[in-house]
Amino acid sequence: MRVIFLGPQGVGKGTQAGLLGAELGIPALSTGDMLRAEVKAGTPLGQEADAIMKRGDLVPDSIMLGMIKNRIAQSDAQKGFILDGFPRTGGQAEGLDAMLADVGRPLSVAVLFTAPRAILLERLTGRRTCPKDGAVYNIVTNPPKVGNKCDNDGTELVQRADDTPEAINNRLDLYEQQTAPLADYYRAKDLLREVDGTQSIDAVQVALKSAFKAGATA
Ligand code: AMP
Repeated sequence: MRVIFLGPQGVGKGTQAGLLGAELGIPALSTGDMLRAEVKAGTPLGQEADAIMKRGDLVPDSIMLGMIKNRIAQSDAQKGFILDGFPRTGGQAEGLDAMLADVGRPLSVAVLFTAPRAILLERLTGRRTCPKDGAVYNIVTNPPKVGNKCDNDGTELVQRADDTPEAINNRLDLYEQQTAPLADYYRAKDLLREVDGTQSIDAVQVALKSAFKAGATA
């Protein structure tokens, strides 16, 4: 199963990718997480990406394609993968297709999660993450059990550096301009399935499973 998750920031792709990946036994690969790991490690790539990410801009396609190519060549991705947050531009989508065609492993399905901007803004401003294990919470819709601490390891939760009002608005604008058109690209290939991301996490999971079964071909 080779799956991509499309949808604006805050729609719940990351949460659902983790749940579905665990169920299918395939890795959920978030390009945002990979970039944050590079920033944290202070690599040359991380240093280049840091300012771009803080503004909410997009990291260049050439960097993203190289990163994905290396990652999906690793052994844990040979059974399949879920790409969360990639592709985000036409160039990335075409590059991914070419890369997968080269190894004879085309995409199985593209899932588009949707939600109106007002809901996304509310979710993104309320988002908190655990710096230790990456768990994601929302102070309104999915709060931690105790105070501002991670349920799994008790670490104090933090707000992402790019969850500021300016960067959030920039990211949502860029999504509309650069990423939303990819829905038509995958629809034309008959790979697109849509899921209403405004529902609860459990309800989205149920909707995703049926959309996924209907759309998965290999
Ligand atoms: P995310 O965690 O998916 O919200 O991504 C955080 C940030 O990482 C984005 O705002 C971009 O700056 C960068 N990023 C993640 N994935 C991509 C991608 N596929 N193309 C370009 N930039 C990306």
